[in-house]
Amino acid sequence: MSHPTPDVYEQGKGMDAHNQVMREIRSRKEASYDPHEPTRVWLDEDNTPDGVKRSLTIILNTGGCRWARAGGCTMCGYVAESVDGGSVSHEALMDQIDVCLAHEAENGDEPADLIKIYTSGSFLDEREVGAESRKAIADTFADRERMVVESLPDFVDREKIADFIRHGVDTDVAIGLETATDRVRHDCVNKYFDFADFEDACAEAAAADAEAGGDADAGIKAYLLMKPPFLTESEAVADMIASVERCAGVEGCHTVSMNPCNVQRYTMVDDLYFEDGYRPPWLWSVAHVLRETVDVDAIVVSDPVGHGSDRGPHNCGECDDLVQKAIKDFDLRQDPSVFEQVSCECERTWEVVMERERSFNQPLTH
Ligand code: SF4
Ligand SMILES: [Zn+2]
Repeated sequence: MSHPTPDVYEQGKGMDAHNQVMREIRSRKEASYDPHEPTRVWLDEDNTPDGVKRSLTIILNTGGCRWARAGGCTMCGYVAESVDGGSVSHEALMDQIDVCLAHEAENGDEPADLIKIYTSGSFLDEREVGAESRKAIADTFADRERMVVESLPDFVDREKIADFIRHGVDTDVAIGLETATDRVRHDCVNKYFDFADFEDACAEAAAADAEAGGDADAGIKAYLLMKPPFLTESEAVADMIASVERCAGVEGCHTVSMNPCNVQRYTMVDDLYFEDGYRPPWLWSVAHVLRETVDVDAIVVSDPVGHGSDRGPHNCGECDDLVQKAIKDFDLRQDPSVFEQVSCECERTWEVVMERERSFNQPLTH
């Protein structure tokens, strides 16, 4: 029997096919942004291993994710090239940081303890944020308690994390793992790396933590995607429970943030949604996973974006705000009894969906 070579497999199939479709979808969007302005900045509160902290969240505009340029993940609406030329200078990045500091000074009573920096890509990728900018940003926030920076696992290494922890700032790297199941990550999300790469990144964080010798902590925050396309509600729930458990079992990973998929424009999920091929997860599913994984050795949180809308995670429309509030309470207190106080008739519908939804196609004739 002959076996196809990897090249043959790649052409027009699997990831290559997903990437072709995603490139076509993304090319429908034409946008360019000012490289001196961050994409977004806001103040909030977050649960950390040291308790609930006031946080400043920054989305830096860095030219976008390399993987998105190749096609990228099926649910991700981040622009492939968010600035003309595809990269942002050190000076422009520092201007963005100044805008964020001004926003904080204007809207907060005092400096936030926790700084979270996302880039619609990888903060630790030196093609997005060079070493000079990374070190300057670490210096800027040297007086804070904790930093979170986002990165794909390939770019995580102990020296880069050391730029932050040598200031005595606890540092977490947020990794968009999406799921612990390689098959689902590759085929449903179209994300290229393996769980083993995530484990390697956790080991780098654990090494940085050990080298810091108690002056500061380093760890990994895993971001999971609840209900990528092509899974039924019950498959998505089972995949999330298994994923939370596997992540919590990896040394160096102390927090799991499970985020329900929402339908972003210019994505494959968006195309499927318009063809009635995708529904974002039920909020009951989110609550169910949080309840089922309450005993794992990690903080487990969820932040349903766009809850209650058709394009976001939702229940029946009547109970969405209540369930969302219970999820937010759970994030801060990690107490599953918050879900006992919410109920709605639509929970029965969700149970039927969990039991009967099938992902394979139904033949129209016999
Ligand atoms: S989800 Fe992350 S890795 Fe995937 S395309 Fe978007 S920014 Fe890139
Ligand atoms: Zn309801």
